Amino acid sequence: MRYVENPPNPWLTHSVEWIGEPPAARIEVFEETETRSIISSNDSPDVAFDHSINCYRGCTHGCTYCFSRPTHEYLGYGAGTDFERKIIAKVRAPELLRKELMKPSWRGDEIVFSFTSDPYIPLEANYKLTRRCLEVCAEFRNPVGIVTKSALIRRDVDVLQKLSAEASVGVYFSIPFADYATARAVEPFAPSPNARFEAMKTLADAGIQVGIGIAPTIPGLSTDIPGLLQRAKDCGATKAFLNMLRLPGSVAPYFEQRLREKLPTKADRVLNRIRDARGGRLNSSVFGERMRGRGQYWEAQHKLFEVYSKRLGFNEHRAGSERHTRANTFRRPTAQGSLFG
Ligand code: SF4
Repeated sequence: MRYVENPPNPWLTHSVEWIGEPPAARIEVFEETETRSIISSNDSPDVAFDHSINCYRGCTHGCTYCFSRPTHEYLGYGAGTDFERKIIAKVRAPELLRKELMKPSWRGDEIVFSFTSDPYIPLEANYKLTRRCLEVCAEFRNPVGIVTKSALIRRDVDVLQKLSAEASVGVYFSIPFADYATARAVEPFAPSPNARFEAMKTLADAGIQVGIGIAPTIPGLSTDIPGLLQRAKDCGATKAFLNMLRLPGSVAPYFEQRLREKLPTKADRVLNRIRDARGGRLNSSVFGERMRGRGQYWEAQHKLFEVYSKRLGFNEHRAGSERHTRANTFRRPTAQGSLFG
């Protein structure tokens, strides 16, 4: 059982300390009906997309390294167990997306599903917010990218095939570790690496472009880059990327605490390796640096990734900035009504 445990919220003047055992961290779902817009834009030079949609806030997969944890602090919650257990469902997401795509200012750029929550957390099985947003994108022939750790995405093969045929869609599975025990230690409630690879194969067999995100790479934890790439290739992946661990704000103490609990014999080595790759700190917020590391260890990992990606034929059709060269398939429907009924 997990107990309520959050680093102090820097936006609040108070924090809670429990006398005795804290209460159990139970899942609570809040429906957000006041949402005004659903497409977020960013101009960060080291984020590979300009527009994203998150149908949920918080993520029950509970990855201890998740850089999105501090987004919960803006809501007055904690970045620890609150992020994993207090989930906000943006129930108006599909309706808002339709409105935003109807605006003359929308040009049909790729929309990426992910960033501050996995689009396929278990709640999605009932809410179907991601699915309904994908249906809207298919109706408008708007290109889509998805990053997930969940096998639930198999449910939406039909919509993904439609997007693939009439616009474009790329699905990246985030799989930093093939080893189940390591994955369980740092991604405690996410589907197993095997389940992610199986889902990757299901989608590839259905003709959908799939890739692997070895993200994040955690220095000192066994990331078998050649093995992960080979397995992804065997499952039909043609794309791959690698990102360095980021531990902004309250994520660093939470990650360290969980690491010491779950992998006590490895914790010091991992933290030292992270500091080596981050110029002596656990995190860097500098643009151009935060997604990569520095130093010998990181350079060796990066080189290994480049060599094996090339050898296995990943990313062969990446033409500069692919997002800017993709054909514009976007069109507004002339009559109301979803193609999916
Ligand atoms: S699945 Fe993604 S969004 Fe969810 S906790 Fe893990 S890293 Fe964060």
